[in-house]
Amino acid sequence: MNPTNDKPVVLLVDDVAANIQLVANFLNDQYRIKVATEGKKSLQLAVTEPIPDLILLDIEMPVMDGYEVCRALKQDAETADIPIIFVTAKDDDAEEELGLELGAVDYITKPLRPAIVRARVNAHITLKQQRDQLQKMALIDQLTHLYNRHYLIETAPLKIANAIRHESPLCMVMIDIDFFKSVNDLYGHDKGDKVLQAVAGVIKANTRQGDIAARLGGEEFLLLLDHCDIEAAISKIEFIRNAIEELKPEGINVTASFGVTKLMDHDDDFDSFYKRADKAVYLAKDNGRNRIEIS
Ligand SMILES: [Mg+2]
Repeated sequence: MNPTNDKPVVLLVDDVAANIQLVANFLNDQYRIKVATEGKKSLQLAVTEPIPDLILLDIEMPVMDGYEVCRALKQDAETADIPIIFVTAKDDDAEEELGLELGAVDYITKPLRPAIVRARVNAHITLKQQRDQLQKMALIDQLTHLYNRHYLIETAPLKIANAIRHESPLCMVMIDIDFFKSVNDLYGHDKGDKVLQAVAGVIKANTRQGDIAARLGGEEFLLLLDHCDIEAAISKIEFIRNAIEELKPEGINVTASFGVTKLMDHDDDFDSFYKRADKAVYLAKDNGRNRIEIS
């Protein structure tokens, strides 16, 4: 892998190419640089990989000025969180206020001084990375490193809407470790946690990109299988069921029960879909555990 790919990405927007060149020279040892000399192009680059971590945006540009670009970026959920620093020849408090009102994080006036540009860019990139990290932590289950319930509730409706729009099959699997309470009672919570981590590892190892594996809480997990019909889901779950049975984490016999369901035409929200998977896992418990039921 190219190590430069780990560098944060800065998008430079200025109608004067010489200005871009100047700033790029200050920044290109620390950052990957993308450039645009007009507003419209900058909007495209803001949603194209590599997605910028920060945008340095000239205000005075013909056709679409920096304010307009900023408004458009802030209105689009995909780009709203990218920090913007305005760069301008104007040294005017009212202009500065307008820029900050529009959602820019900072304001640098020309003539540009390299040390100032670098310091501001560094500071805002660091803030963004910290914010991204916090957000990630808020959405990840700290014990198992699967997604948490919060993430699932935010993301599942998008998955469902996508599946409906593209008429693509989507399956939901509810997974519940059997007799987990007695694992905790017999072996203690430390071992119980290790069992949860091991089971989560099996679940995660069997998901593809686009699938969602989440810990709902306690010993309950949920899998959303993207582009997956019920037959494929069942064979995947049978594989996972078997892998968990053979796992014996900490030398403890562990099994799990599974409830699976597919997204149906009348599912217009997460709830009805979820309830069917929940019903199926209860059925699996009732019918003797360590098994799969379909609802
Ligand atoms: Mg300009």
